[in-house]
Amino acid sequence: MPELRTDWLTGRTVLVAENRANRPNEFADELRSSNGEPASAAGAIASTVSDCPFCAGNESRTPPAVYTANDPSGRWRLRVVPNMYPAVGSEADQPTVHPLAEPAVGAHEVIIEAARHIDRMSLLSVTELQDVFVAYAERLRHWRSDGRFNYGLIFKNQGARAGASLAHVHSQLMALPGIPPAVERELQRAEQDFAEQGSCAYCRLIARELSDGRRIVVDRDGYVAFCPFASLQPCEVWLLPKAHEEAFEQMRSREFFQRLAGVLHAVIRKLESLVPGAAYNMLLRTAPWQSADGSGWHWRIELLPRLTSFAGLELATGVHINPLPPESAAGRLRDA
Ligand SMILES: [Zn+2]
Ligand SMILES: [Zn+2]
Repeated sequence: MPELRTDWLTGRTVLVAENRANRPNEFADELRSSNGEPASAAGAIASTVSDCPFCAGNESRTPPAVYTANDPSGRWRLRVVPNMYPAVGSEADQPTVHPLAEPAVGAHEVIIEAARHIDRMSLLSVTELQDVFVAYAERLRHWRSDGRFNYGLIFKNQGARAGASLAHVHSQLMALPGIPPAVERELQRAEQDFAEQGSCAYCRLIARELSDGRRIVVDRDGYVAFCPFASLQPCEVWLLPKAHEEAFEQMRSREFFQRLAGVLHAVIRKLESLVPGAAYNMLLRTAPWQSADGSGWHWRIELLPRLTSFAGLELATGVHINPLPPESAAGRLRDA
């Protein structure tokens, strides 16, 4: 029987309809046939590509780096550069085309996660992934302290189906002056719940998921990863610290980033062994910067595989159809 599931914190509603498909391998086949080839062809890709702007040697094809991490020999292994084609502008005083439009002001950066030409985050070593998280925290702190912005988001589009336009492994940062509407609504619910219950809603969610157990994918090293009750897509995974931590960028210790890199690496490898070449979006949701201390936010990473398309129902109603119940998805990911 198809069922409607609503997550009260995020406000998302999902129609879990198992009859529409039931094997992740079928989704992988679908992925291949829709793209003509697997989303990843890492084995066939050269380590450096002469026309790739993110490869070592082609630094002149991007704006100068605002942050770099180097290997022991002094060569860069991670660079952060301003986005050449930003979705938001840096100047508030530019005129808009339409008088009723507002200028979309913000910062937009690209985190180039490796100097060599690899096309998947899973091909980074755990140490390289750790460097990526250190860079995320550093750049979020930078924009947070800038003072003009109230919201910072890190996201990755893995694969063309998830919105990537360049194959070379990278992610993006956006800093925005206002809190986007969907985030604002979640923040309000979380703050209200924190005020009423005297404890963090996400901490209680983690406790419920751990005691239920059916949707847990990984529980180790201070992190828990689970398929959310109202998963938008098959094999969606949320990863949260088990200790209450509001803002990702408050974290500074090497050990913190090391443990996180180990756990996320394991989750991505599981996903990719279940769905080879999966396209996915990764979202790092840290506390909005405007929120008061003790707001009840709790940072998380969302991995959202793009195995089915958003279609008419999703666009018209905001209700997503997910053909794979998260309880089944978590079982398969645990075994992967
Ligand atoms: Zn490249
Ligand atoms: Zn919490």
